[in-house]
Amino acid sequence: MGGVPLRLSLKELLYERVRLRDELASKLGHERASRACGDYHARKPPVHCGATVHSVLGCTFRCAYCYLPDMGVSFARAQPYGLSGEEMALALLCNPFFLPGPLGTYVAFGSLGEPLHEAGAARTLEYAEAFSRLLRNPMQLSTKAAVSEQVAARLAKVEAPLNPLVTIVTLRASAAIEPGAPSPWERLESVRLLRRAGLYPMVFLRPLIPGLEEDALEVVREAKRYGAAAVVLGGLRVTPSVVARLKAAGVDVSSVLSEVGGRLREGVQVSVPSRALKEAVAEEARRAGLVPLYSACCANTLNVYLKTGRRVPCPGLDFVDERFCARCPVNCRAIEVEVDPEEVKWAAKELLGVEAVAVEERGFELVLRVSDPRGALNRLKRRAAHRALIETAFRRRLRVESA
Ligand code: SF4
Ligand code: SF4
Repeated sequence: MGGVPLRLSLKELLYERVRLRDELASKLGHERASRACGDYHARKPPVHCGATVHSVLGCTFRCAYCYLPDMGVSFARAQPYGLSGEEMALALLCNPFFLPGPLGTYVAFGSLGEPLHEAGAARTLEYAEAFSRLLRNPMQLSTKAAVSEQVAARLAKVEAPLNPLVTIVTLRASAAIEPGAPSPWERLESVRLLRRAGLYPMVFLRPLIPGLEEDALEVVREAKRYGAAAVVLGGLRVTPSVVARLKAAGVDVSSVLSEVGGRLREGVQVSVPSRALKEAVAEEARRAGLVPLYSACCANTLNVYLKTGRRVPCPGLDFVDERFCARCPVNCRAIEVEVDPEEVKWAAKELLGVEAVAVEERGFELVLRVSDPRGALNRLKRRAAHRALIETAFRRRLRVESA
């Protein structure tokens, strides 16, 4: 505690979004601006780790646990996304759920493809450089590619914080489970190169696969040896096709089936409970001298701190509930923030349609005092992405209570 509190303002971020959007749109001209603002990235709501940007579509690494085939995305080829770097920056600025700047929405490359796949790495680099120059939001990319010295050097030159997550889930079973991907040893080498270039690479141990517990402990120890700054632990989500592919790759899926077998349905991703496994691997990470984290959002937050020395609370609000906070050096719970209750009232009315009689700050929550709590709660549910926008800007959870 102590020192100057971090002042947070949603209005300032919204004004900045309009200013940057208008400036960039006029630079790009009518045709390119319409293409950018008509793009899917200009509409889609954020996920927990922020705004995902699909710089590359498709992937040829064919991981058994990948859900791309369930989403109809190709395993046969990867291709760069059609927008240029400036156009994609404008698409984000047109997105009503995006906030620009160092205190704004986190940007994550990946999720519908491998961002550093040789077919599209140039596009990802172009996006990262454009976003750093035009938006300055913290960025993250998760990769299984073998990163060259040149790519590491270019990523390291990006001025805005950029968090590389190198995914490794097993050292021994990778050839069967991730048949098209570079070997885990090549990926550990990527960690070494990225660190040497001046970045803070973290190992993404997701998914933790039941039956491969020993492998996970091994990954953590090697991650430390190769210079990772942290390890991010995440559970497995399965569909019938993922279970079938894991089984075909030689994984014993009996414990997965006994946990979620009854809930498996075509096209629906089901989370396999992983709390105990996560805690065991986190313990091993601490023993090895490595920071364990439970979300990609926390990895981005820690990366901002390592790169800039600035402590800003995690926008995913993982610190609100102690169970999700791995108590990394950022120590979000101890960061004092200054929020104007009148501005919160304004945001609740404008973006959620909720008229608050008063706003109270209570711990890590902003309590909206309203005359109709049930109606207000319904609005918060229906406008989840707007709620996330407000919570990101103020780094506080919204709560509704009777006036
Ligand atoms: S690297 Fe990622 S996108 Fe590519 S197949 Fe594996 S899980 Fe899917
Ligand atoms: S202090 Fe907790 S919530 Fe904050 S970034 Fe670290 S692990 Fe995440």
